[in-house]
Amino acid sequence: MMAQYLGLKAEAEDCLLFYRMGDFFELFFDDARIASRVLDIALTARGEHDGEKIPMCGVPVHAATAYLQRLIKAGHRVAIAEQTETPAEAKARGGYKALVARGIVRVVTAGTLTEEALLDARSDNWCVAIGEAAGAVALAAADVSTGRFEVIDCSADALGAELARLGAAEVIASDAGEQPGATTLRPRHTFDSGEGEARLKALFGVATLDGFGQFSRAGLAAAGGLIAYLDHTAKGALPFLRPPRLTAAAETMAIDAATRDSLELTCTTGGQRKGSLLDCIDRTVTGAGARLLASDLGAPLMDRTAIDARLDLVQYFHDAPAQREAVRAALRALPDIGRALGRLAARRGSPRDLGQLRDGLDGAWHLGERLAAIDTPLALLDRIAPRLRGHGALVDLLRRALVPAPPIEAGDGGYIAAGYDDALDELRDTGAGGRRAIAALEAEMKSATGIATLKVRHNNVLGYHVEVPARAADPLMQPDSGFTHRQTLAGVVRFNTPALHEVAARVSQAGAHALAAEAAHLEELIGTALASREAIAATADALARIDVAAALAERAAEGQWARPALAEHACFDIVGGRHPVVEAAVARSGDRFVANDCTLTPDSRLWLVTGPNMGGKSTFLRQNALIAVLAQAGSYVPATRATLGLVDRLFSRVGASDNLARGRSTFMVEMVETAAILAQATPNSFVILDEVGRGTSTYDGLAIAWAVVEAIHEDNRCRCLFATHYHELTRLAERCDALTLHHVRAREWKGELVLLHELATGPADRSYGLAVARLAGMPPATVARAKAVLAKLEAGRAKTGGLAAGLDDLPLFAAAAQVEEATCDAIRAEVEALDIDALTPREALDTLYRLKALA
Ligand code: ADP
Repeated sequence: MMAQYLGLKAEAEDCLLFYRMGDFFELFFDDARIASRVLDIALTARGEHDGEKIPMCGVPVHAATAYLQRLIKAGHRVAIAEQTETPAEAKARGGYKALVARGIVRVVTAGTLTEEALLDARSDNWCVAIGEAAGAVALAAADVSTGRFEVIDCSADALGAELARLGAAEVIASDAGEQPGATTLRPRHTFDSGEGEARLKALFGVATLDGFGQFSRAGLAAAGGLIAYLDHTAKGALPFLRPPRLTAAAETMAIDAATRDSLELTCTTGGQRKGSLLDCIDRTVTGAGARLLASDLGAPLMDRTAIDARLDLVQYFHDAPAQREAVRAALRALPDIGRALGRLAARRGSPRDLGQLRDGLDGAWHLGERLAAIDTPLALLDRIAPRLRGHGALVDLLRRALVPAPPIEAGDGGYIAAGYDDALDELRDTGAGGRRAIAALEAEMKSATGIATLKVRHNNVLGYHVEVPARAADPLMQPDSGFTHRQTLAGVVRFNTPALHEVAARVSQAGAHALAAEAAHLEELIGTALASREAIAATADALARIDVAAALAERAAEGQWARPALAEHACFDIVGGRHPVVEAAVARSGDRFVANDCTLTPDSRLWLVTGPNMGGKSTFLRQNALIAVLAQAGSYVPATRATLGLVDRLFSRVGASDNLARGRSTFMVEMVETAAILAQATPNSFVILDEVGRGTSTYDGLAIAWAVVEAIHEDNRCRCLFATHYHELTRLAERCDALTLHHVRAREWKGELVLLHELATGPADRSYGLAVARLAGMPPATVARAKAVLAKLEAGRAKTGGLAAGLDDLPLFAAAAQVEEATCDAIRAEVEALDIDALTPREALDTLYRLKALA
């Protein structure tokens, strides 16, 4: 057995091996140590291997799903080795001592799950492969729980942003390269683009891929690697994949991982959904709707027509509350047909999944009827509503074939409805008749023996039998009693009789035939359903899109949000903007959120925001970034009015010290991230920078902040909000013509600091640092001392010009570059004029001195 185990373990590579033994999956050696720790189950030992006891632990097969879930969550992958023949077959093959053959039937990994219990109903579950070819990069992403399949061409620097958008459960890459995000490495040859093309063609049964669009070589490599991996984990039973959707990263707003993190789009920096933008706006009523909303929010669109099409539908539901409520009520009652289909396609489906398809498709049909009656012209609805109807025949079939609430377990039968199959009905009648006959026999035996407590019982070992209390058993033990003794237990004795045996045989035979008949029907029904899986998946998508639109309308109505207008040029004009998450928090503590305007125009595209700590700077910056995300995702926005030009890339960075509590951000990270912005932001981008430069000493920090503002203003020329406590930066307003000054207002009133959270133009008049310290509860004596120190410092500053002394003489970034260029020209001219061979050593030395002086 150990030899067989070790063979399978070698095949399982780095996966934990679940080795089937009877009713248990057993783990051995290191696998057992890991599993016992993760699962908190007893580690035992069994036999010996190389003179050492073999560590072992096991989980019951019937409860394996729960254990699998915990192992997958903990980052492990599990290979499942099942018995591939029965013990009887093994005996027939190899005699009494033959070992039952086992094989790995499936590899369970985070990215390849379909089980309801293992998945979050409200999140997508992407398995992503990174492919490279001809110097380009592409991603292939599949959610096998619903069959979604995307191939995304992206540049190497957009790779991180795309991976962050997908939030992949598993990232696979070739073991030949170095991909920092990869969680699973696979052999290089599986990422060959030629092989990828062949795999795609085979999978979709096509002679050419042109029908899907234009694949890049990298896209083929990624798709091929992904398909090969899915094939590997499913051991040949490739799960359901819909035809790939080809996209380029450029079709959506680029949002890198750091920005997603900092804006807390779909989860907070602490990794929770609660407290994120998604959580705050999600009013969807179906799992598929929640998944689509999360994906929309992660990938705001860049196509105005598409955004407006989404907004039109949201507006329709916004303006028609009764319709919205009716649609949401209908959706709420629907099962998750996308995932049910995924399970059926992966051959892990149950009668209940078929029942879900029946109910979901039926509900979709009714919803489709309702939506077809809408006479407002809505492009999006015109496109998706027809997909809701058109499964009439399948629904009819399932309605006739299945009982109203089919069970998850197919093993016990009872899911095929009466009247669907005459032969099955007859078998069931026989069974039922038999059970009635048994009841009659019981009554007969009771009166014949005079034992009132006599009962006919059934268990798996004896089948049907007669049971009497031990004290009444004696007469039945007599040879001529007609009863055959079977078993004596503590208080009862069990018997059989020829009549009972005969009826029981009839019952069990009919039962077995009925089960077989039901299983055959199940197989056939699944086949019929899967034949239209493309169309069913499209229906599921349509339902999700409607749920999202109605949910966004609901949220907009709830918060009095406005429909954003999309402009042709890079403007950003928000009136009465709010931060939905902070607003909710402020409301919970009984306060009112102060709405603020933000008007970025070509001559005022960089706002420098100063003001006291806790004054609302970060909130203001973020709310505007969130408004851009919401608008391009096709949602209303928390503002009274909003007009914006499309944002191609969104960046958000927070100075290092804010992140120190998380223990991972350092000044280095802050600088790396800021460098990425300077390298990537275009005039259509939107950048928020919060206290950048704060993570280092005052002089360094100010210098860096200064240089960054200049570079953004002169080179990137993007829309930008820059919050800082370096008051000195306000001097930049004099030299940067598109930079304007703003501050969050505060007032000292009777010695108390009052933060108004209101934005006003101009620089802050002072920093209020001491007032904030007092507000924070710093002891009065310490505040008084700080006041004295401050007075000294300020006196010193008046004399020397302070921190920013000399900044006034600093030429602007571009001007500084010009000076440098002039120097270079002079040196170049000097060098070009040299005739080196004619120089004396003395002259050479003089020349060097002259050049040095020029530099
Ligand atoms: P800063 O970045 O200036 O230090 P924050 O933006 O972090 O300040 O805001 C601090 C707190 O002030 C927030 O947690 C919130 O409670 C409150 N706040 C911020 N903006 C507003 C606003 N517009 N209206 C009401 N309260 C606000």
